Amino acid sequence: MKMAIYLDHAATTPIHPEVKKAMLPFLDEAFGNPSSIHQYGRAVRNAIDHARWQVAEGLNAEASQIIFTSGGTEADNTALIGVALACREQGKKHLITSEIEHHAVLDTCRYLEHMGFEVTYLPVDRTGMVDVEDLKSSIRPDTALISIMYGNNEVGTLQPIETIGAIAREHRVFFHTDAVQAFGIEKIDVKKLPVDLLSISSHKINGPKGAGALYVSKQVKLMPRFFGGAQERRKRAGTENVPGIVGFGKAAELAARNRDVHYREMLQLREAFLEELKEQQVTFVINGHHERFLPHILNLSFPGTDTETLLMNFDLAGVACASGSACTSGTLEVSHVLRAMHLSEEVTRSAIRFSFGRGNTEAEVRQAARITAEITGRLIHR
Ligand SMILES: *Cc1c(COP(=O)(O)O)cnc(C)c1O
Repeated sequence: MKMAIYLDHAATTPIHPEVKKAMLPFLDEAFGNPSSIHQYGRAVRNAIDHARWQVAEGLNAEASQIIFTSGGTEADNTALIGVALACREQGKKHLITSEIEHHAVLDTCRYLEHMGFEVTYLPVDRTGMVDVEDLKSSIRPDTALISIMYGNNEVGTLQPIETIGAIAREHRVFFHTDAVQAFGIEKIDVKKLPVDLLSISSHKINGPKGAGALYVSKQVKLMPRFFGGAQERRKRAGTENVPGIVGFGKAAELAARNRDVHYREMLQLREAFLEELKEQQVTFVINGHHERFLPHILNLSFPGTDTETLLMNFDLAGVACASGSACTSGTLEVSHVLRAMHLSEEVTRSAIRFSFGRGNTEAEVRQAARITAEITGRLIHR
């Protein structure tokens, strides 16, 4: 079977060959438990230490500030619940987030509301950006945490993270950001960026699934989510996912080393795709911010069509793309991100997310654009 053109890298990415190579010994002879003191254990302990250092380097953090998790979802859950519970002891019970967060943050906030916390969901403008004045005015004396994502996974809009962080510092409120989509694209330096907690995920940067990390600055008090062992400085009990962590370490190293080149390549693919769409005289609108965006995520609407029909046609024609987050596709539900952006019904209901990544070529994205022209032409004029 000829494989479709893969334009769904915001959902997941293929494993880099060097990552796979780094992982293989840990699926084979290097099987020890890192907590064992014998030779088998020590070899694996060293590999985890190295991976922690690789991930820390990618953020300019200290290795001791990295907690390995099962992925971005667990990192987000740990940050929100861990800080909320720790701060409750000081009488703080309020959190601030945005309406366009990943469900790993939004659903965790719903859970915390159920547990007696109060959450403010900041609205966004038509480009998907939060308003820092809104943020300022929603901070209360009992606010424990602000959680605003770095770059959105559906429309790619970048938030004013530095400004938000500065406001959080000024008000002595902890600040978490979900940087799962931004890591490997944007330069993230936690020594300069005023963030206290930051989530990243392995499988979005050509690493294996089931691994991720939460960066936690030294000031933060965090209640663990898992109990039963001394792993991850007692913040995350359980025998480590060794192959996953080793692969994640390698992926983080490669992502940091190739970041500039990767950024340019993603921008070129995006521009080639848009250029070809225009040449093919496709009618479309870009959803998201026109300057402050992640170059690998392109959300387009094709007025006069609808998302579901488009997706079915793209699949048949050999283009793998998405309707937004992988979690909401497969249902008829409209994206909560596009809803929050208050776009017209026509735009909201005809949106498709194309997301580029390592391995995509210009020829491929141009081909995908021509397929888009063919599909939209057929759907609109029939
Ligand atoms: C993919 C994604 C997550 C979830 O990460 P997993 O490793 O799949 O659990 C969280 N936030 C954002 C922005 C994402 O894109």
